[in-house]
This record gives sequence, structure tokens and C-alpha cells, in this order.
Amino acid sequence: MTAERIVSVWESLRFPADAYGSAPGVLERIYDQAAEAPKIQSAIDWLYEHIEEFREFLSDHDYRWVFEPRAYGAGNEAYLQMRVLQQLSALYRIYKGVGMRLPPMGDVVVRGSLTSRYDMMSPRYLPRQGIHFIVVPIGFADWSQLAWWAVYCWCAGGDATDVDPWLAVTSRRHSSGVPAPEAEPSPALLELIARHFADPAKDLEVDRTDAAAVIAAKLPSFRRAAGLRPPEELTAFDEDIGYVLFDWSLSHELGHRLAGHAEHAQPGDPGYLDAEQEADRLGFDLFRASWGWRSSLLERAPIDEAGRIFFGSLVFFHTARLQSILKAAVESKLGSEVPGACDARDGEQEQRARRWLETAVAWIQSLEGTSAAMSTETRGRIEAFAGNLTGFGEHVVAVVQKIPDDEIARISSIVGGLTK
Ligand SMILES: [Zn+2]
Repeated sequence: MTAERIVSVWESLRFPADAYGSAPGVLERIYDQAAEAPKIQSAIDWLYEHIEEFREFLSDHDYRWVFEPRAYGAGNEAYLQMRVLQQLSALYRIYKGVGMRLPPMGDVVVRGSLTSRYDMMSPRYLPRQGIHFIVVPIGFADWSQLAWWAVYCWCAGGDATDVDPWLAVTSRRHSSGVPAPEAEPSPALLELIARHFADPAKDLEVDRTDAAAVIAAKLPSFRRAAGLRPPEELTAFDEDIGYVLFDWSLSHELGHRLAGHAEHAQPGDPGYLDAEQEADRLGFDLFRASWGWRSSLLERAPIDEAGRIFFGSLVFFHTARLQSILKAAVESKLGSEVPGACDARDGEQEQRARRWLETAVAWIQSLEGTSAAMSTETRGRIEAFAGNLTGFGEHVVAVVQKIPDDEIARISSIVGGLTK
């Protein structure tokens, strides 16, 4: 494998604009190459600094190209590539140590991608021509940051920033439970909803008008979101959530590589649930094996280590769930859903969620009696967190439903006007 081959295969791929991802090559035109070069170099420098920890894995797999700046289009790709290497080499060492048969771990390449659609926005495994791409939509980080900020505001009971976010999301705010679904929406949630309504007009490839901002300026229900930008400085909460979210999604997608899947199945495809569960199971192994690389992560969260490890996948699970709740709420409000299609998709997602929880519970049980067992306090916080997130989902649906019909009727003309 060479940097040239990676670039040429990636350039040869063309995704339909309305499906997952977008035209590769466009990112390279957007990124300021002069600004990206030092970021790429610093990721490579980091690898040299920690080379001892990777030596065995790298001597057994052809990853020479990871040291070549030409292999990357942007700093973030190089940075995420190093995190992929952390996971693979950590699991490799454990498997090798106990003499386990090694699964395929070679030729995994991280690539950033644009996407103009807010569903299926998390990283995705995409094997093509012998290269095992993990495609990362660049909007994922931004979307997640907004979503978790909205969760925090809701759990804290307003836009207040004086409440510790971790305490807010992991404890019940009232003894009677979470706030009512009708609670006043935060600017962050309104911005997220506006983005989902504006979705068809979003074209990050060129500097078009920000359709969500236009909706916020023109429709009274969204006014509080007007001019909203995510907090400029990342807080410890954003940083931890963002890190753990990316790492777990990389773990799951790498799970598909380890399992030898020929393609990432879609809901409705035969074997979809089995394939997803297999990737989740291997993902747990990768995430756990590489925990040492991020052991300082979530230190500010009031939970023990077993809880922190479990939290990674839990945060991802709830982020994905929020995406589908928002999408379904917006589609039903616009009357654009295909009859029946949503039920089938939801049914399968629900089933997947249940099986995912079974995998997670089995993992927690495997820790019983060891020093890594989860404490009662941590369990209580995780349960409060799950309860808060369920309540937040209901809040999202209630807020979308409350938007007046005359505003909804104007959205398509606003968005349609911008796409022309
Ligand atoms: Zn998957």
C-alpha cells in the first residue's frame, strides 16, 4: 500500500450527493493546504514519539504509508488515523499475548467526507478496492457538540452555564424525574432542529447561505437560535464527549474490518442486525483494549473506570438515537415520510438497540467480582443519564410538534429559494 494508491482510489470514488458522504477531492479544495500541512506533520511526529508502542504491530502490518504526509488531505485525517492505530495495535498485543488467532487489521484508512444529509452522519466503514476506508463526515463533530450542549441545557434546566455539565447529565434534576417535554427549548436545540429542516439546502462544498440561519431569522419559533455558534472554547464536557464519541464510533467501524465484512449493511438488508452486533462486540474489545490511551478521559465525570469505558458506547448510542428521533420528527412534520418505511426502520433500530444493550450488560457482568466492577453509585448515575436522555428525546419531539403549521409551510419556500 502506498500514499499514491490511497489518494488515487479515494479520488476514483464518487458517492451520490444525497447518499452517504460526498464527492471526495472536494475537501482538499476546501481545506487550506498551508494550514493543514503542520497539523498533518504533528500527527506524524506524535507517532514517531510513541513508536515503541506501535513497533510490533507495524512490523506485522503494512502501514508504512502512515508516515507520509501525502497520504492525508487534512490534519484531522492524520489525527484520526493515529487513533485507529492506537486501537488496532492495543488489541493486537492482547490477542498475540494470549495466542489468539489474529483477525484482519491491515489497510485501514481514515478519510474525511462532506455530507449534506443529517441522517447516517456518523463514521462509516467503506471497503473499496482492497482499502478499508473509514469515512468520517466532517459535520459529525459539530452536530454532536450542538446536540450534547442541548442535552446539557435541558438537564440543567435552562441555558445556565453555572451547573457542572457532568453532574447535570448524570443526576436526576427533580425527585419527580426530568423536566416536562414542553420545557422551553434551548438555542442549541433550536439550531439543531433548524439544520434538519434546512438540510436539503445545505451544501458545504461551496459557501452558500447558511439555510438554518435564514430559518432562524425568518421564523418566530426559531428566533432564539439566530446567530448561534457553538461555544467557542470547548469545555471539558464537550471535549470528553467529543473524544469518546469519535473513539467509540471508530471502534465499531473497525469492528466491521476485524469481522471481515465485505460491506457495511444498511437497515433492511439481510443480516443487518447480526453484522451490527458482531461489529459492536469487536468494537467493545477494541475500545477496552485501547482504554489506556485515553484513561485520563472523563476524569471529571463522577463515575468509576468501568463506567467510563461503558460510557463511550452509551454516548454514541444516544447520539445515534437522537439523530433518528430528530429526523423522524422533522419528516413527519413536513409530511415527507414514506408510509410504512419509517415503522420498518424504527422497528429494526429498536431491535438493534435491545441487542446492543444485551451485549453491554454481558460485558458489565463479565466484570463482576473483579477490581474493575462497576460501583453502585456509577450504576445509579448511568441509569439517571439514560433516563435523562429518554426524556430529552420526548422533549425534542414535543418541540418539533409545537412549531406552528404556517411556519412549517414557509420552510420549503425558504429552503427551496436557497437551493436555486
Ligand atoms: Zn456498523
